[in-house]
Parts: sequence; C-alpha cells; structure tokens
Amino acid sequence: MEAQLSALKQEVLEKIQAASTVKELQDVRVAYLGKKGPITDLLKGMGKLPAEERPKMGALVNEMRQEVTAVLDARMTELEAAAVEAQLANETIDVTLPGRPVQIGNHHPLTKVIEEIEDLFIGMGYEIAEGPEVEKDYYNFEALNLPKGHPARDMQDSFYISEELLLRTHTSPVQARTMEKKKGEPIRIICPGKVFRRDNDDATHSHQFMQIEGLVIGENIRMTDLKGTLDLLGKKMFGSNREIRLRPSFFPFTEPSVEMDISCFKCGGSGCSVCKRTGWIEILGAGMVHPNVLEMAGYDPEKVSGFAFGIGAERIAMLKYGVEDIRHFYTNDMRFIQQFERTEG
Ligand SMILES: [Zn+2]
Repeated sequence: MEAQLSALKQEVLEKIQAASTVKELQDVRVAYLGKKGPITDLLKGMGKLPAEERPKMGALVNEMRQEVTAVLDARMTELEAAAVEAQLANETIDVTLPGRPVQIGNHHPLTKVIEEIEDLFIGMGYEIAEGPEVEKDYYNFEALNLPKGHPARDMQDSFYISEELLLRTHTSPVQARTMEKKKGEPIRIICPGKVFRRDNDDATHSHQFMQIEGLVIGENIRMTDLKGTLDLLGKKMFGSNREIRLRPSFFPFTEPSVEMDISCFKCGGSGCSVCKRTGWIEILGAGMVHPNVLEMAGYDPEKVSGFAFGIGAERIAMLKYGVEDIRHFYTNDMRFIQQFERTEG
C-alpha cells in the first residue's frame, strides 16, 4: 500500500505540473482531491488493513494529501497571476475616449423649504421634535380632541393598519406626544415629517406629503403671538413685503382656528392667476390650542395656553418655485431637481 501511495503521489504531482490553465488545475483538484478521488478511496479502504497498520497508513495518506494540496495551491496562485497578466496584455485603454458625466445630486426643493423653515424657528429658540409615522389612533385623533365617531375624522381619510394603528394623517400627534413627555413644562417645537391620507393622486393631491407642525405652550401665549410668528414666517418664505391676514376656520384641536393668507408675491395684491385674482394666497392652518387638548396632555388650561400651526411643505414649495404638479416632487427626475440649484437665497 505504501508503494501504491507513492505512485499516486507521483501521478498527481505530474498532473499538477502539466496543467497550464486555472481550469485544468481545477480539474486536477476535483479528480484527485475531491470526494470521489483516489485519496478519499484510500482513506475509505483503511478499514481492510490490519489494526496495527491503520494509524501509520492514515498518517501517511494525510501527509501526502497535505503535501499535494500545498503544491497545487502554489501552482494555482501562479496560474491565476499569469491569467491576469495575459488579460492585461490583451487590453488596451483608449485615453482619448470622453468620460461619462457623473450626475451630481442637489438639495430637493422640499428639503430646502423644510430647512429654511427650521432655520427660522431654531433662531427663535424652537426645538425640532419627531414622532413615528405609524401612529396610534389615540395620538393621531383622540388626544387631539377627536374622539372615536367624531365627524371631523372624515376630514382626514386615513390608512388604518389595524384597529388602533394608522399612518399618521398629520404631524399633530407629535404635539400630543411632546406635551405628554414635558409634563406641564413650557414647549416651543417644530415637527417636520411625512403624513399620509387616502387621496387620489393628481396635480394638487398626493397620498403622502410633508407637513411641518409648530407648537408653543406657556403662560400668557396669545393670539397676537401666533399672528406675529406667522407674519415672520410669511416674510421669510415669500419676501419682506408680504402681509398676512387671518380668516376664521375650523380645526377640532384649536379654538379659535384660523387660515393664514399672504398677500400675493406675484402681483403684490392687485390680482393675477397665482392668487386667482383675489390678491391673497392661502398658506396654512393654525389656531390656539384647544383646552381639551391641553387637559388631555396634563396641562391646566386655566394656567397655560398655546398656539399651533401646520404647514404643507409641498404647497410652499409649489408656490415658491412655481411648480405646477405636486407629483414632480416624488419622481426623482434629476432634470427637475437640478432646476433648483440656482434659486437659493
Ligand atoms: Zn396675484
């Protein structure tokens, strides 16, 4: 058996030397070292040997297998290197070919609007707050003075995930969560984020959009504070000559509630297509935080008051940049995004 082993070793080593490509060498490895190869057969046949010879022969076979494997691995490294060299020698590089232009990204117009608004409010001491997009019915509706069965829930067609969970229909649940966390402390926050409503997508509607919520709570917070804040916001976003006006409105979580308009930035108030000949453009909804909302979050409506507002980032971006179809914001078309490069500032 020792002679058999030595002959086999000789045979494998010759085959390894003879292999001139990676593929040929791989075939040698499979044929001799594989599960069906002669070395495995030898090991399997050990059982037929007398018991005292088995350990010695086993060691010899293993030793031979290790040696052959080492030679084969070394040869493999050589052949692989040769293959790479041969490939490089065959390739030529034409350095005169023009390069492929790399498309460089740009801040998305919605990001710009959100960052501008954040900057304004951070400058006034607001904090940025965030909350989950999959929200509990409690925070999305109940804690905001919208108990189950309240007719105003129909104002916001919702995507329910289960009886108690839904995709938030507005960023207002972040208000409720923050109030609960702050336990009676004063609050000044701004919460940007995605919101979802069951709407058919068209030029002015999207089932998903960005909202920015603002909330201030403290002692002696008055309607005039809200008006002053919104006036700053209107001027920051649409120019220092803008004026604002507040119209009465209804939201279940604020009382009184208002809609804010700005004087048209296109015609200055004389009437044009942007302002639908009215001289005013509707911008956002706001109001004084409803006493029920304060109470549910553990605030005493006799001692503190607050205001809240909600801005649609898409609406602001559409007005500011003259975008006619809301769907442009979501198509990731670089030609669209790149237009906003030079509109900064
Ligand atoms: Zn106008």
